[in-house]
Amino acid sequence: MSATVDIAQLVCELCRNFYALGWASGTGGGISIRGADGIYVAPSGVQKERIEPADVFVLDASRLDRACVVRAPADASLRISECQPLFFNAFRDRDAGAALHSHSLWPVLAARLASPDGGPGVLRLRGFEMLKGLRGKGCFDEVSIPIIANTAREAELTDSMAAAMRAHPDVDAVIVAGHGIYVWGRDWVRAKTQAECLDWLCRAVVESHRLGLYDAPGGSP
Ligand SMILES: [Zn+2]
Repeated sequence: MSATVDIAQLVCELCRNFYALGWASGTGGGISIRGADGIYVAPSGVQKERIEPADVFVLDASRLDRACVVRAPADASLRISECQPLFFNAFRDRDAGAALHSHSLWPVLAARLASPDGGPGVLRLRGFEMLKGLRGKGCFDEVSIPIIANTAREAELTDSMAAAMRAHPDVDAVIVAGHGIYVWGRDWVRAKTQAECLDWLCRAVVESHRLGLYDAPGGSP
């Protein structure tokens, strides 16, 4: 089995997992993985739990200023995921090996507690063992995840996401208010496990707030 098939299959398998977690409902969300022959990315506007390896685009990893297709799906009606320029922020600016986008409810609600008007801000996380799963962090650290305002089109988030990444070089995630979260890592395992930890942490913030246990998770960007 070639490396090409392996990574395309992996994208499909992970998209099914993310759908089962509620991260990729209603065609949203997905993952992009850097392979030896290019950057693999799912098509746009399709049920992510039903894509097949032949539906996955491969893009030129040496051209991170825009999407240059190395291999297109056989189905010519498919378009590259709208997340592509946002995934490329992580590949270009952080040398990521994989980047994912989740529409999970937990980062959306946690960010709403931190920034109720949906504007830019930060979500402060502290006091949880799961912080240890984030790059360079320990369980007693306070971690600030940047929040950016949502836009009508996914691609319009590209510049504000890049600015938030520059302002927070110590974390591998950006939350989009009322929308979801982008998470990346040096490889797909690191991107996935950091996303799992962040989802858990965001749920902990929301549930703690519901129980009256958590004070003011927000702050300025
Ligand atoms: Zn989205």
